[in-house]
Amino acid sequence: MRMSQMYLKTLREVPAEAELASHILLLRTGMIKKLASGIYGFMPLGYKVVKKIENIVREEMDAKDCQEILMSAVHPAELWQESGRWFAYGPELWRIKDRNGRDFCLGPTHEEVFTDAVRQDVSSYRQLPFNLYQIQTKYRDEARPRFGLMRSREFIMKDAYSFDIDEAGLDKSYRDMYDAYTKVFTRCGLNFRPVAADTGAIGGDGSHEFQALAEAGESDIVYCTKCDMAATTEKAACIDDKPQDGVAELPLEKKFTPGTKTIKDLCEYLGIEEKQTIKALLYTKFDNEGNKDGYVAAFVRGDRELNLIKLVNALDIPEHAIEFADEAEMSSVTGCVGGFTGPIGLKNCVMVVDSELVGQKNLCAGANEADHHVLNVNYGRDYKGDIVVDLKVLKDGDICPQCGGEIKGARGIEVGQIFKLRTKYSESMNCVYKDENQVQKPMVMGCYGIGITRTLSAIIEQCHDDKGIIWPISVAPYHVIITLINPDDEDQKNLGKKIYDELRTAKVEVILDDRDERPGVKFNDADLLGIPVRIVVGKNAKDDKVEYKLRRETTDEILASDEAIKKAIEIVEREKDGYK
Ligand code: ATP
Ligand code: MG
Repeated sequence: MRMSQMYLKTLREVPAEAELASHILLLRTGMIKKLASGIYGFMPLGYKVVKKIENIVREEMDAKDCQEILMSAVHPAELWQESGRWFAYGPELWRIKDRNGRDFCLGPTHEEVFTDAVRQDVSSYRQLPFNLYQIQTKYRDEARPRFGLMRSREFIMKDAYSFDIDEAGLDKSYRDMYDAYTKVFTRCGLNFRPVAADTGAIGGDGSHEFQALAEAGESDIVYCTKCDMAATTEKAACIDDKPQDGVAELPLEKKFTPGTKTIKDLCEYLGIEEKQTIKALLYTKFDNEGNKDGYVAAFVRGDRELNLIKLVNALDIPEHAIEFADEAEMSSVTGCVGGFTGPIGLKNCVMVVDSELVGQKNLCAGANEADHHVLNVNYGRDYKGDIVVDLKVLKDGDICPQCGGEIKGARGIEVGQIFKLRTKYSESMNCVYKDENQVQKPMVMGCYGIGITRTLSAIIEQCHDDKGIIWPISVAPYHVIITLINPDDEDQKNLGKKIYDELRTAKVEVILDDRDERPGVKFNDADLLGIPVRIVVGKNAKDDKVEYKLRRETTDEILASDEAIKKAIEIVEREKDGYK
């Protein structure tokens, strides 16, 4: 491509709306164009990268004998009502009506649509197993679209669905996808980690997320420094502190603790540690129609953080069906007092107690009376939970639930997730087959997603410097840029053209910067766009000499033009597939 003819608008300034490097660089390179909040178009260079990532995904899916199809983004509401997710998916589901008032949604994911297709076409064990996938545009009306392609409302996803006759078949399909995902993200040049994950609105049990490690990531992950334990903080089990067996239970004692509404204030006032207190968190629940459906009081030890995902899983409700309570309103029903709530005497609410509190003795909790706390609160004697379960967040420095080693925390960008759905959808939607004895059984399913456009952001997040993007060759929009210092100089023009033609013949993707611009502008653009190999044709062109430089390295070398061409072809050949 000749740069003088390229549809390209780069920006010198950092756009005010963007804070993350990947978002800033996507806008500055003109790769994406914003249409509305969380809605973007892809311009030529951006779309080239999208297609490269899609092709890597396609090759690895095809290598596992998955078959590509393309389903509609518009889904009739009936399918989502049948699976129960018309409600469970919540406000993120982008609902629309046709001219006759019939309900539809724009698909955020396609379990229902694939299950519906398969139940119509498949009836015998002989037709199983298989794995169908598509690369398609998804819609999620995110509460806070942000960071460009990282969390958008319209995005491209690869989603795949496997259908097996039994659990053993699903295990194999799942392992195949785990393997394919590992290859995909390696080929994209990402530094990533697969971690055990919660299943969220997709459902089922057994899941891994593929997390690209990045400070800017929105996911908190934890891993053990000794064993292979790695999980999202939402999912990670957290072991209880040792029970204080043998410690005598002291009598309850009410204390005047004026103005101590936080655990920190309370501990300072009483001169005790956070570990010796009980933290209360109050929530309102909502039913399927969005009406208020009672209150929840959750309790963890004062030094712990409540894990909301563990709480909603314990209550068996979706995350959007719970909200922090209005304490004034809740107080008249349950007897709680804002800032001074404790488990003793609380009524008319579901009490969910972290399992650790059962074994801890003589803790300090709110007295459900303004400016008062109670000392020596003990589980069993003074209060009980309706549900007792692990509600804690596992944090950096905690003990590994698997081996007792030390836990480290990290941040990541979730680029993909795989799930064992088992029979969640095949049962609710009657997707069944007959086995060899003519016995009817539900198919055993898995589903597997990769955020293509989020992966693009994650690659930039990991591969950039203060000058711009540094594309891995496997996903670069072009492999080589030839910069002509003076496009009017005959020697430079001819040599540039020769290198350009030879590289194109060798199937290297190349840009010829023949623009009538100052050299500084051309160098800045080459660095900003992140093209992996730069060949500068300048005043030494008359001696057949050019400058050869890799974007990822700081040094350059002066080479004869054939030498430079050879080196460029070699590195592209070696790295274009991205295998390590
Ligand atoms: P998140 O927790 O970040 O909201 P999710 O777990 O809801 O994501 P999945 O249902 O697992 O997402 O979707 C599969 C993949 O699609 C994700 O791993 C991610 O890469 C991508 N994805 C999900 N939501 C978005 C979004 N709003 N914008 C861009 N990509 C997304
Ligand atoms: Mg996910």
